[in-house]
Amino acid sequence: MKQQLFEKLDSTYEEMLIIRRHLHMHPEVSFQETNTAKYIQDFYADLGIEFTPNVGGNGVVARIKGAMPGKTVALRADFDALPIQDEKEVSYKSTVPNVMHACGHDGHTATLLVLGKALFEMKEQLAGEYVLIHQHAEEYAPGGAKPMIEDGCLEGVDAIFGTHLWSLTPPGTIEYRVGPVMAAADRFELTIQGRGGHGASPHQTKDAIVIGAQLVTNLQQIVSRRINPVESAVISVGSFVSHNAFNVIADSAKLIGTVRTFNPEVRNLIEKEMERVIQGTCLANDCTYEFLYERGYPPVVNHESETQFLKVVAEKTPGVLNVRESEQHMGGEDFGYYLEQVPGTFFFTGAQPAGEVYPHHHPKFDFEESAMLVAAKTLVAAVIDYQTTE
Ligand code: MN
Repeated sequence: MKQQLFEKLDSTYEEMLIIRRHLHMHPEVSFQETNTAKYIQDFYADLGIEFTPNVGGNGVVARIKGAMPGKTVALRADFDALPIQDEKEVSYKSTVPNVMHACGHDGHTATLLVLGKALFEMKEQLAGEYVLIHQHAEEYAPGGAKPMIEDGCLEGVDAIFGTHLWSLTPPGTIEYRVGPVMAAADRFELTIQGRGGHGASPHQTKDAIVIGAQLVTNLQQIVSRRINPVESAVISVGSFVSHNAFNVIADSAKLIGTVRTFNPEVRNLIEKEMERVIQGTCLANDCTYEFLYERGYPPVVNHESETQFLKVVAEKTPGVLNVRESEQHMGGEDFGYYLEQVPGTFFFTGAQPAGEVYPHHHPKFDFEESAMLVAAKTLVAAVIDYQTTE
């Protein structure tokens, strides 16, 4: 039966390409993906597959019931694009200025749609139930996963699997990892309120730029001196803004940045330490501040048994040439929310294109399209084999 599903996927590869390229030409940014959602709905409606639209926003969830009882397994594909100008010269280049599928979510969607079609055609021979989660807004916190879960997309789900096509990993490679694989991604905003004045009279002012510069440096010491060196953490100030003339001392300055961690204790510690360092630095400089720490996505923490299971499945999947442990990525992914609710695993499918390789979110990003077939076969094998696990 699995063999038949593989053959079905092989025979629908052309369709997968057409879908991917259509989506690539018509990208929509996070929370505005109404046409993409409609495209997904139409695909299922034409086949007579049951689905729920508008799940937690633009999300679409299809459910396919096998003829025999069994486990309920979910698969997730995200479908939003990024506010980036497509600079590739290909026939399927984005037709929307400043919007581009620069992370491969078009490929995730094409993979899941065609996979759903194959499962549906085989449903008389299948046990269990298959929940196909098409998630909007992965790229922009608070993201689509959380509201979709709150809207019931995981109801009755025993396990969930998801993959990301990865342009930096050779095709035919599946990368798995037990435990944290992607980081928690938080955002902070700090406004330093000093006292402006004449550039010639610093003693009458509280120079917000000098204080801000101290803070950029002091915050780095949290990672280098407060965090256990065997743990991982990043504090990056990505923006430092203070507007003034050459002969004016800054009244205020604003620092915006991101914090990345894997371990929840480290995450808590950094938030607390940041507040203290800011408080201390501002006290020393006799100024006030406003500090906002926003928690973004939780880390993606893969469950041990589902990850080991996926590794074994991948090793037997046609088209998979190499199964290896993934490195940890400091990037964020809201797949972490699903894994807080149900067991499962998130893995990478190698999709390095021929020629020059660009990283995800690059204006020339592209991926090897045949990787979609490898992803589809691995996911199908996972959901079928999962029916016979303990
Ligand atoms: Mn992505």
